[in-house]
Amino acid sequence: MIGHREALSGSFPVDYAASRLAFLQLSSARGAKTACFTHPERGPSGELLATDVARFGPEDAESLLIVSSGTHGIEALCAAGIQAALLKLGMQAKLPGGVALLFVHALNPYGFAYLRRTNEDNVDLNRNFLDHSGSIQTTPSIPKYIPCSCPKSGMAHPARQPKHASPATSPSGARERCKPP
Ligand SMILES: [Zn+2]
Repeated sequence: MIGHREALSGSFPVDYAASRLAFLQLSSARGAKTACFTHPERGPSGELLATDVARFGPEDAESLLIVSSGTHGIEALCAAGIQAALLKLGMQAKLPGGVALLFVHALNPYGFAYLRRTNEDNVDLNRNFLDHSGSIQTTPSIPKYIPCSCPKSGMAHPARQPKHASPATSPSGARERCKPP
């Protein structure tokens, strides 16, 4: 049995590819049922991009506890480390009766691999998770903050143009506007 400090130490990945490998190794070694949902794009080194899932517990569980990472891609550097630590600590072996556990690694694998909050279409999967059947509330001041929260690139990524572009701003221009007054 390892302690929290030992579990956390070395669990935080340096990039998407390392994180994916660690997640698959850790979950498989602990008897998870895994599945892989591939992404049509490739990572910065040409690597496969995917959302991987690992499930523990009874098939007929009444409840399912979901621990996901990377809705905002770059934040998976932290969240995937926590998932790895939970696996090392044996969370999957401490489930109450009737509860199954599902780890979802990299909900937004493109954003994780390219160190962006948004996906390949520059869509923020959390902030844009709206009910489009109703009227959508608008906030007039939001456009001036978009270059700060969703810069066009955190690192070089393919020439693919976003389908839902935010106002055109160069990365340096965005940084200028993000400086404190
Ligand atoms: Zn977030």
